[in-house]
Amino acid sequence: MSVRTRFAPSPTGFLHIGGVRTALFNWLFARQHGGQFLLRVDDTDEQRNVEAALEPILHGFEWLGLDWDEGPEPGPGKRSRGDAGPYYQSQRNDLYAAAVERLLASGHAYRDFSKPDESQAERDAAQAAGEPFVASRRFAAETEAEAQRYLAEGRTSVVRLKMPRAGTLVLNDLVRGEVRFDWAREQDHVIQRADGSPIYHLATVVDDEAMAITHVIRAEEHLSNTPRQVFIAASLGYRPLQFAHLPYVAEPGSKNKLSKRKLDKYLKNRDFASLNEYGARIAQRLGIEAAAETFNPVIVDFYEQTGFLPEAVLNYLLLLGWSFDDSREDFTRAEMIESFSLERVNKAPASFDPAKLLNFQERSMQLVPAKQKTARCVEVLKRAGMLSDPPPCDAAQTVGKIVAAAGDRIRTYGDILDYDYLFVPDDEVVYDSKAWEKRLVKPADAAPLLAKFRDTLAEASPFDAASLETLLKSFVESQGIAIGQIIHALRVAVTGQAVGFGMFETLEILGQQRSLARIDMTLRRLAAAG
Ligand code: GLU
Repeated sequence: MSVRTRFAPSPTGFLHIGGVRTALFNWLFARQHGGQFLLRVDDTDEQRNVEAALEPILHGFEWLGLDWDEGPEPGPGKRSRGDAGPYYQSQRNDLYAAAVERLLASGHAYRDFSKPDESQAERDAAQAAGEPFVASRRFAAETEAEAQRYLAEGRTSVVRLKMPRAGTLVLNDLVRGEVRFDWAREQDHVIQRADGSPIYHLATVVDDEAMAITHVIRAEEHLSNTPRQVFIAASLGYRPLQFAHLPYVAEPGSKNKLSKRKLDKYLKNRDFASLNEYGARIAQRLGIEAAAETFNPVIVDFYEQTGFLPEAVLNYLLLLGWSFDDSREDFTRAEMIESFSLERVNKAPASFDPAKLLNFQERSMQLVPAKQKTARCVEVLKRAGMLSDPPPCDAAQTVGKIVAAAGDRIRTYGDILDYDYLFVPDDEVVYDSKAWEKRLVKPADAAPLLAKFRDTLAEASPFDAASLETLLKSFVESQGIAIGQIIHALRVAVTGQAVGFGMFETLEILGQQRSLARIDMTLRRLAAAG
């Protein structure tokens, strides 16, 4: 039987990093076994616009290259990828209703006509007596006549499972090993609401059977739901499933669960500083609202926006709770598929480590061919409005030179925006005031040396990095000065910044005319300031 896994997101409006880890493990497991990976939208109790809330999730999957298999006809207004889903639970209500009828008929479920305060009173009494709550089933309608009588009293009903009251469920979880549950501790869980809508536990079991799922790989928080789901499946005569409950992803340096409810906290959290600062810098240039909750290192979209590589994010997530051995960390997509195993998933939670994720990104970026890096940087510059769209025909060449000169400084594609000074018109260069003061105003010889070197530069031909280096060296010698006396002033004059990549490459990329124009402007401003 072929391996079939599924990821079942609720349409929340964003793709959480912990959710992606779950999806990745499902995807890897299916791909490794030549099986199928299905996407199924848990939208049984969604009032809002599911499509809009799903869009960022599907987009995240596409960005990460986690492709899913098969699906139904999408139905009006529903999105799908060709014939490959996702499935929507909201379109499958008939199946769930039929399953509820079967459970009622076989006596594995009952219509409960108790009022909420009546069941609550039973619960409170059990708690006061320090005993586990056991539903009295006092308002269970066993026959149609009883049901009619309750209805006549103005009562409504939900459908509850008639759970076993004794015995043990032994679950062999592929991650957690043997887990035992006392049936007596289970309550008579609701599977259908008064309005006839199904509860997730029922829907998921019906779907896992209908979709021939073999392995349920999901978050640990669902472990406690498993007994009732196993009960439903067994009562309906379904095949047993293999379960693998993944430990949760914890906050950096902590055992607390990374939570969607704490998104705003993560924007201020010290441990996330490296990513948040990063994001803020890039967001500002791209006009993204950096303080927005969804522009958050806990949400996948953050990484796409800031120009991370999907393979780096996936590789990092792979090791978040899984290890191959004690040392190997880097995996290509094919190697991930080949090496993954549920046996090597850790039982303990793994904490999210922003610095480590950045390291993965840096290493992955080093493997990207120059041409691809350039093309992606061009895209980012276009998004930031620094290149016209379509870009000028020499854009690829210029950006290619910047990419080569910047080297490892470009850790994500967003880093190209650090070199915005190369793209702005000469009279719009923004001068860092500290650098201006320190390198141009304070040293008394800065302006005269810059003026002299300007004249040398005006004669330079050819205007390439190697020739410019020779030129500057002989200028330094002829003036009897240290190289530091001119090079810092020159950098601030042409870039506005204290730091950047190689000075000679910077000049070559700007070209002779623009370099001279910027020096002239600097000299005029210095003179004007007296
Ligand atoms: N919608 C559930 C979740 O997001 C799915 C749980 C499951 O995989 O069964 O946690």
